[in-house]
Amino acid sequence: MMDTLHIIGGGLAGSEAAWQAAQAGIPVVIHEMRPKVETFAHKTGDLAEMVCSNSFRSDDSEQNAVGLLHWEMRQADGLIMRIADAHRLPAGGALAVDREAFSAAVTEAITAHPLIAVDHEEITALPDNGHWIIATGPLTSNTLGQAIQQETGTDRLAFFDAIAPIVYADTIDMSVAWAQSRYDKGETEEERKAYLNCPMNKDQYEVFIDALLAADKTEFHEGETAGYFDGCLPIEVMAERGRETLRHGPMKPVGLTNTHKPEEKAYAVVQLRRDNALGTLYNIVGFQTKMKYAAQTAVFKTIPGLENASFARLGGIHRNTFLNSPTLLDDRMRLRSRPNIRFAGQVTGVEGYVESAAMGLLAGRMAAAEIAGRDLPPPAPETATGALITHITGGAEAKTFQPMNVNFGLFPPVHGLKGGRRGRKDRYKAYTDRAKTLWTDWLDAQAVL
Ligand SMILES: Cc1cc2nc3c(=O)[nH]c(=O)nc-3n(C[C@H](O)[C@H](O)[C@H](O)COP(=O)(O)OP(=O)(O)OC[C@H]3O[C@@H](n4cnc5c(N)ncnc54)[C@H](O)[C@@H]3O)c2cc1C
Repeated sequence: MMDTLHIIGGGLAGSEAAWQAAQAGIPVVIHEMRPKVETFAHKTGDLAEMVCSNSFRSDDSEQNAVGLLHWEMRQADGLIMRIADAHRLPAGGALAVDREAFSAAVTEAITAHPLIAVDHEEITALPDNGHWIIATGPLTSNTLGQAIQQETGTDRLAFFDAIAPIVYADTIDMSVAWAQSRYDKGETEEERKAYLNCPMNKDQYEVFIDALLAADKTEFHEGETAGYFDGCLPIEVMAERGRETLRHGPMKPVGLTNTHKPEEKAYAVVQLRRDNALGTLYNIVGFQTKMKYAAQTAVFKTIPGLENASFARLGGIHRNTFLNSPTLLDDRMRLRSRPNIRFAGQVTGVEGYVESAAMGLLAGRMAAAEIAGRDLPPPAPETATGALITHITGGAEAKTFQPMNVNFGLFPPVHGLKGGRRGRKDRYKAYTDRAKTLWTDWLDAQAVL
C-alpha cells in the first residue's frame, strides 16, 4: 500500500493535484475547509469553484501561451481541462465554461474516484510528517497563513499582491528610452544600466496625470481589505493626493541623464526594471494600480517610449496570499525548510485559474512520483508549464516577486527569428511547436516508468 498524499485546499490546483496523484495509483485525502469555513469570494461548498470570471482565456494553442497551457494539460489527462471542455460555452476563441456545472462535475469526479477522500475541515498548522501539498489559494485561511508565515518569515508570505504592469522588452522604443540606474549606482556596467527610463516634459506629465485621474477604476471587494491592507498605494491614489506627488515619488527625474538628449532635463521619468533573468520582461516601477485593464493600456501608452508597448500583464492590487517562491521552493515545488510539504496553485505566485490548475497538475505528479520512490524532474522551461515553474522557482527576481500569469516572455527565446511585432506570429508558432515536442517527451518519459 502506498503512503497517502494529503492536499490542503480543494480549489482548481488541489483538485487537479488530487486527480493526477490518484490516477497514478496514490491514495489522496483532500482537506477543504468550505463550506464550514467561508471566504469572502467563494459562494458554494463545491470543489474547484471559479470565484470571478468564467473564462479560461484563449484556447489558441499555436499563438497564445495560455492556450498552450490548455493543450499541455489536456495531453496530461488533466481533469480541470476535461471538465471545462465538457461544459464549454460559446465564447469565440476563448474557453468559457458554465461555472456551476463545471464545479459540480469536478466535485463529482473527485468524490467518485476510489482513491480520493474529501474531508471538510480547516487545517490550521503545518504538518510535521507525511506527504502534503498546500494548495490553499489566494484566500488561504488566516490561521494557516500565520503558521506559514512563522515558518517562512513575515516578509516571505504576502497577503496582498501589488502588481505593476509588465511590458515585453522588445516593444519598448529605445530611441526614446535609455538604460541607466539612478545616479549610475552599481558595481558592474549591467547594474549601472539596470533600469530603462522614459522621459516626460511638463506637458506630457500633466496629460498623464489628467488621464490617471479620469481613468475607470475597480473597487476592492467587500471584506477584501479587512485587517490586511497596509499601504502600497495605487498610482492613481498618489495622483489624487496631489498632482506633484508622483513626480516626487516613483516618477522623480533626479539622478538620470537622457542619453538621446543630454541637454534636456526631464520633468518626470517613468522607470522600468528587469523582471526576469531572460531580460525579456520589464515592470513599470511603483505603478501598482486599480485602474481597469482597458484604461491601463490607454494611459500607459501615453508614456513616451511605450506608445507601442505590449503588456505581458497589467497591474492590479488584490487580496492574494502568495509565497516568495524563488527563495522558498525548490524546483520540485517543495518547501526547502520542510521538504515533506509542497505548494501548488496561486499560493506559489502564479496567477489565474489555468496557471493554478497547471501547478496543481505538476505538484500532484511530482508528489505521486516521490511516494512511488521516483524523482520527477520539472518539464523543460520551453514548455508553458515548465516556463511557469522555472519562473517562480528561480527565473523571477526574488526581491520584487509578484504573481505572474503565463506569457511568452517567460520562454527562452527561439533564435534566428524576427523580433518585434512583425515577427510575432512566426515566433509564437515556433515557441508552441517547440513546447509541444518537449511536453510530449516529458510525458512519454513518465509513461515508460
Ligand atoms: C476575488 C478574486 C477574484 C478572482 N478572479 C479571477 C478571475 O476572474 N480569473 C482567474 O483566472 N483568476 C481569478 N482569481 C484568482 C483565482 O482565485 C485563482 O486563479 C484560482 O482560483 C486559484 O486556484 P487555487 O486552487 O490556487 O485556489 P482556490 O481555487 O482559491 O482554492 C483554494 C482552496 O483552499 C481552501 N482553503 C483555504 N485555506 C484552507 C485551510 N486552511 N484548510 C482547508 N482548506 C483551505 C479554500 O476554501 C479553497 O477552496 C481571483 C481571485 C480572487 C480572490
